Amino acid sequence: MIDINAIREQFPVLHQEVNGHPLVYFDNAATSQKPQRVIDALLHYYRFDNSNIHRGVHTLADRATEGFEDTRKLLARFINAAESEEVIFTKGTTEGINLVAQSFGRSMLRQGDEVIISAMEHHSNIVPWQMICQEKGAVLKVIPVSPEGELLMDEYARQLSPKTRMVSIVHVSNTLGTVNPVKKITEMAHEAGAKVLIDAAQSVGHLPLDVQEIDCDFLVFSAHKIYGPTGVGVLYGKRAELEAIPPYQGGGSMIRDVHFEKTTYNDIPYKFEAGTPTIGEVVAFKPAIEFINELGKPAIHAHEDQLFRRAMEGLKAIPGVQLVGTPAEASGIVSFLLENTHLFDTGMLLDARGIAVRTGHHCTQPLMELYGIEGTCRASFAVYNTVEEVDYFLESVEKITSR
Ligand code: PLP
Repeated sequence: MIDINAIREQFPVLHQEVNGHPLVYFDNAATSQKPQRVIDALLHYYRFDNSNIHRGVHTLADRATEGFEDTRKLLARFINAAESEEVIFTKGTTEGINLVAQSFGRSMLRQGDEVIISAMEHHSNIVPWQMICQEKGAVLKVIPVSPEGELLMDEYARQLSPKTRMVSIVHVSNTLGTVNPVKKITEMAHEAGAKVLIDAAQSVGHLPLDVQEIDCDFLVFSAHKIYGPTGVGVLYGKRAELEAIPPYQGGGSMIRDVHFEKTTYNDIPYKFEAGTPTIGEVVAFKPAIEFINELGKPAIHAHEDQLFRRAMEGLKAIPGVQLVGTPAEASGIVSFLLENTHLFDTGMLLDARGIAVRTGHHCTQPLMELYGIEGTCRASFAVYNTVEEVDYFLESVEKITSR
């Protein structure tokens, strides 16, 4: 059991009125709010420890480096990586996928090779693969999705072949909430000799996640969606896979020796961390992970699942509400439309009552095309949301539909 009041106390942003109503923040799939300890860590870093990392011999450089590397170590434990060198800092999920698409793609893809993604991917797991496939003459295949919002696994099995080099799949759909069977997907890809990248942007803060158990080759996520700062992300990669691919960008930190004739690269993780990173934000990511660890993912998931089920059942019972995607296994995200109200109007009418939901295609335009819609209204939950907020949201939707 979690103490919801004690949790809410830690998030200063929640304690405000929006348009004359207490803020109800249901836009967590876009970005989560930050606990005071994360804000404090960021301030503390810039107030006391600000320095560039890895290169200095002075005390501030030591403190900054230690803070930065401590976050890496904690993250390795958080996702159960075999070693902390397998954790690469990026700007976010998008950069992590671009890194793999470019580095793996440039070195491993040949004319006629195949990359498999799915119809429910975020644009950030579509466009980087389109770009590299186009460059290399490789073929991009797309696993179709059922009307309920589930991957057609038989189709996936048919698409896999000795030509498949990479399968890059979202763990939890940011539009439908679908939880994909990533362990099974990985196993099938490996049997075909392909590598696997998992987009864990919407799962890592909500569901238990163990990279060694999934056995994926790469996995990416963003700090800002799991109570941490913006501008920081993680690329996990198995050591052998990271060592097998070339650096993504050239510059400082990623080198061992530079000569005009020849440059040798640093070991992982530094090989993939060219230039000065977002040091303060990485340091302040640590308390966000500690916040999650203190509560425990099972308790977080149980609470969010209760909110999710209440919202789903409540919406189903309101005449004029169309649910978009009703997968058997879903996590914390509800997409819906109202018969008599345009989705942007629904978003604005909810905002007028202090409720923040996201409206639009959620960076999944091909999925929206599949459903023949422009977009959806999306409510997504975090651990600080309450049952009372869900009830107020349902009451508000009912008011809008019955206008
Ligand atoms: N993948 C999924 C499933 C997402 O939900 C998002 C963000 O909404 C992204 C990728 C991109 O994340 P970022 O913008 O933090 O790079």
